[in-house]
Amino acid sequence: MSDAKDHNSMNRRDFLKIGVVGAAATAGLGGLSKIVEGVTASKHDIMPVYRTLGRTGLKVTIVSFGAMLTPDHEPMEAAFDLGVNYVDTARRYMNGRNEEIVGKALKGRRDKVYVATKSLPSSTTKKDILNDVETSLSKLRTDYIDVIQLHSLTSGDRAFMPEIREVLMELRKQGKVRFFGVTTHTNQADVLKAIADDPDKFFDTALVSYNFKSEMSVKNAIALAAKSGIGIVAMKTQAGGYKTDALGPISPHQAALKWVLQDTNVACAIPGMKDMTMLQEATAVMGMKMTRRDERILERYAEAITPYYCHLCAQCEPTCPQNIAISTINRSIMYAEGYEDMELARATYDEIPPHKSVYACSNCTECVARCVNGLNIAAKIQKAKTLFA
Ligand code: SF4
Ligand code: SF4
Repeated sequence: MSDAKDHNSMNRRDFLKIGVVGAAATAGLGGLSKIVEGVTASKHDIMPVYRTLGRTGLKVTIVSFGAMLTPDHEPMEAAFDLGVNYVDTARRYMNGRNEEIVGKALKGRRDKVYVATKSLPSSTTKKDILNDVETSLSKLRTDYIDVIQLHSLTSGDRAFMPEIREVLMELRKQGKVRFFGVTTHTNQADVLKAIADDPDKFFDTALVSYNFKSEMSVKNAIALAAKSGIGIVAMKTQAGGYKTDALGPISPHQAALKWVLQDTNVACAIPGMKDMTMLQEATAVMGMKMTRRDERILERYAEAITPYYCHLCAQCEPTCPQNIAISTINRSIMYAEGYEDMELARATYDEIPPHKSVYACSNCTECVARCVNGLNIAAKIQKAKTLFA
């Protein structure tokens, strides 16, 4: 949603008082739907639309709030006041500050919003998880979390650790968490299949990377998981959110969001919203249908990002003799270049163990790792060295 991000002069009160169409005009966006092909908004477009989040039974707005990049509480407050009722944050985002920002926005609104957060990706013991949840409760200024998610699974392993399940059950008994979820970017189909096939049906939700560039294996795994009762929440709906200036006055963002939401196996999407303009653009999608024009916009956008967009599928990793974490390295680069968020990029990159980082690949004189989508992996590794050295 970067095309319009310079137009961010309105505050929450203006936004709510004027309404979407009026706010757009006041902020110099009156012509947004005319000057930026692919972006439309009208008063009817912000009517909340709900779907059921799998076996949790929660009715969530199909456009919910991805808080990861939101620098202050105002856009969140505005979203909640408009009826957006699900917010996703994480212990790790903004080095812990993101949960504090969500906590501020929840003040006086806690009963209207479902809160999802995540334990740290490195948390594998009872002590770790307890510490994560207690810290999240304190930062969020709440006494319960609706959905606690195990962050960034690359296989089913962590989801089946008895110690983790035991502590999650304890926390549920204490009333501190209500539902359990997982999140995944890598080997998503395997992760989804593992929790869908779990006879205990332990996990209730899955936050997955899903967009118009996703492979059929991911779409099918989402369908399988949804059928088993898992509530699917879609992230990375913008395929990296890269700037599209080269395409001219076209915004692919609403089209990309519509593409994901036309799959009814998805309960909701959580586009990142940094400001009121992004909020306007995303929430307007509720109730909109995918059109032929949207398809054309996505075709052009897909073509533009193909040379550098990584699907995070990890299929290249077995072809690398050092088993370098290529997909996570590429995700870190995407955060730096697409999201333009170096703090998040660095934090993601720092999670990679040294033996799988870019420095572990110095033994190779020539890169033999192969990308199924034709990306130049050696160039990506060099880019990571430049960005994160
Ligand atoms: S150069 Fe390529 S094949 Fe060699 S270790 Fe690095 S990523 Fe793997
Ligand atoms: S570099 Fe290619 S094969 Fe590797 S994760 Fe990305 S898209 Fe998949």
